[in-house]
Amino acid sequence: MIDVTRIKEQINCRDLVERDLGKPKYRNNTYSTYKCPLHNEEKGFSLVVYEDHWRCFGKCGRGGDAIAWFQEYHNLSFQEACEWLSSGDLPQLQQPRHPQQLKAQPLSEPPDAGWQESAQKVAHQAMDTLWGREGKRAWRYLEEERGLTEDTIIRAGLGYVPGDYREWKTIEGLSVPCGITIPWLADGAIWGIKVRRAAGEQRYHQVSGGNIKGCLYLADDIKPGLPIMLTEGEFDALITRQAGVGLISVAAIGSAANKRINSRWFPKFITAPSILIRMDDDQAGQGASEQISSLSRAVKCIQVPQGKDINEFYLMAGQAPVGDWIKASLE
Ligand SMILES: [Zn+2]
Repeated sequence: MIDVTRIKEQINCRDLVERDLGKPKYRNNTYSTYKCPLHNEEKGFSLVVYEDHWRCFGKCGRGGDAIAWFQEYHNLSFQEACEWLSSGDLPQLQQPRHPQQLKAQPLSEPPDAGWQESAQKVAHQAMDTLWGREGKRAWRYLEEERGLTEDTIIRAGLGYVPGDYREWKTIEGLSVPCGITIPWLADGAIWGIKVRRAAGEQRYHQVSGGNIKGCLYLADDIKPGLPIMLTEGEFDALITRQAGVGLISVAAIGSAANKRINSRWFPKFITAPSILIRMDDDQAGQGASEQISSLSRAVKCIQVPQGKDINEFYLMAGQAPVGDWIKASLE
């Protein structure tokens, strides 16, 4: 058992941060100040560290206790940070980071082979269902409300698990929510299956055991040298790919909660001459753009000219105006 209270009592934030960042710019009895590495601060010294907490008074505004510092700076989960901090065996000191360098972070991995095999079967079964009589309504939704063509639906491997929107089924030993299935495939693996329910407060769920958070939707489609559009939702990504063939590569983070992209995918962004970010939630857009801006020179957050998202804009205006909007956004 990890004793969180004990970690907080025993670890002095000032010592911990100094261990990671080296000597502070300024210190007195109460606090120390640094350039904030969390937003690659260049000019000021906005990071202020007290004995029991820290805060960036600059651009990123992040702050918290020793555990939060450890999570942020070393890119760890809460659990991992607590484990390190209570083990007494802290990670190797890093050299103060060059602004172009990113945080040391373990590269994400897909779930194990057994899970992937089961998940592939779930995805295939759902694809078959989407094509059959039971999938008619879901198919109509994808075409009429999302604007996706048959070709896009096939290429994305979309499927359907029939049932009530509150229901979960057990298929191949996995817990599968009923709804439209969106497999997350990248680097030769299946990382997860997202499911869009037909109704309910929480529309999106995922098949148990997946690692969508460690993946980047459509990552394999990113073509070196082409600009990239990064979206929040999978359907936004699919419609943009459909309208932006030859103009742009597209990828999705899947949810505003995944705004930190795992460094496994960073090489995909490096040759992009520009990156457009279009998120439903501005905070996610800002978080993603701050993170990605060190990888590519031109990062721009954009909005659709009409409708609430790219799908709606596509349905209102048609394919050609979406293409024009992408072109104009790249200028
Ligand atoms: Zn900051």
